Amino acid sequence: LVGADLGAWIASGGGEGLDTASSKHPDILPMLEEADLRGMGGAGFPTHRKWQAVASQEATDKWFICNGTEDEPGTFKDRLLLERAPHQVLEGTLIAAIATGANHIAMYINPHEETAIASMRQAIAQWKACTNPPATIPAQIKVLDVFPSSGLYIGGEESAAIATVEGGFPFPRRKPPFPFESGVNGCPTTINNVETCSHVAHILRHGAAWYRDLGMGGAAGTKIFSLSGDVLKPGAYELPMGITLRSLVYDHGGGMLQGKEFKAVFTGGPSNTILNRDDLDVQLDFDSVRERHSSLGTGAMIVISEGTGIVKRVTEYVNFFAHSSCGQCPPCKIGTHQMSRLLHKIDTGQGHRADLDALVNLTRMLPGSGRCGLVTGAATVLESSLYKFRNEYEMHLRD
Ligand code: SF4
Repeated sequence: LVGADLGAWIASGGGEGLDTASSKHPDILPMLEEADLRGMGGAGFPTHRKWQAVASQEATDKWFICNGTEDEPGTFKDRLLLERAPHQVLEGTLIAAIATGANHIAMYINPHEETAIASMRQAIAQWKACTNPPATIPAQIKVLDVFPSSGLYIGGEESAAIATVEGGFPFPRRKPPFPFESGVNGCPTTINNVETCSHVAHILRHGAAWYRDLGMGGAAGTKIFSLSGDVLKPGAYELPMGITLRSLVYDHGGGMLQGKEFKAVFTGGPSNTILNRDDLDVQLDFDSVRERHSSLGTGAMIVISEGTGIVKRVTEYVNFFAHSSCGQCPPCKIGTHQMSRLLHKIDTGQGHRADLDALVNLTRMLPGSGRCGLVTGAATVLESSLYKFRNEYEMHLRD
């Protein structure tokens, strides 16, 4: 397994971050605040605030879930980190446990990612067998293990992850209570994405200023972008946070396939608003992308070129969401299938204006109507495509 050797990790400076965290426990959260580390799983929420919420809870047992499920199309960065840098992820997670007071750790990974699971299991076994600093597991830790997810898309949602770790079906739950007050078995629980955890050991080792300076144009640190679609060199790229979309696509991604023109990008996977050619110079950081009414999300960038039909692509994505709905909330269960059906009708040239009007109505009615963000994501990508590429929908109508 590539990267699963603890000796090599320690020889490259691994363990120093954990050492710093152990000796300067109260400094961890201020360091993360100064570093401006955000949650890399989609929301971009400040990590120090999430951790503080659990750290301030009085409880005998607390959980930390390192979320490595990636089931949305176009997202594949966490799998690489788990496979190739498991010690980096694990060390960051142990630091998180110190900062939040967690004594139970779940490495939560999609069961289909067999190499990632094997790599993390081997890394955990090596840390457990190691009794010499700096690679020693903090004494407070009672549970540290891999918890395979269900493999379902909804299993990555916070409350669904909690339900899975408890041994149940991954049904998202109503909030409140929020995980920081009542998570796994009622214990205060923090859930952070694998990439977020992987930054932590380096920040503790090199300092907040070092991490901040890695970013561009006022943004802090780095981001791993899962670049896919119609580019010459798709792949996972760790680049300065704040790099422009143009640079990602043309400098790193090698430009467009077959010299075609850039048309649009689905940012953060297929559940966000779409950016188009007018947005090529946007900086890829949480705040700058939000100013364009989109979201950086997980950093998944699915690029499409001129000649690729937006209606067909959005139909595929909404269909994915319809089939991923867990069915607990009627608006989601019915609404996503309704959108999928109408989109299929329009995409195949069978749609009428009334179908398009019905789709527009659904994009107004559905957002916020479910327990989790699935139905909102499905409506958002549809609404965004209607806003930016309405002419393509019109061209598909029979009348
Ligand atoms: Fe399930 Fe959809 Fe409700 Fe989420 S919004 S809990 S996926 S039915």
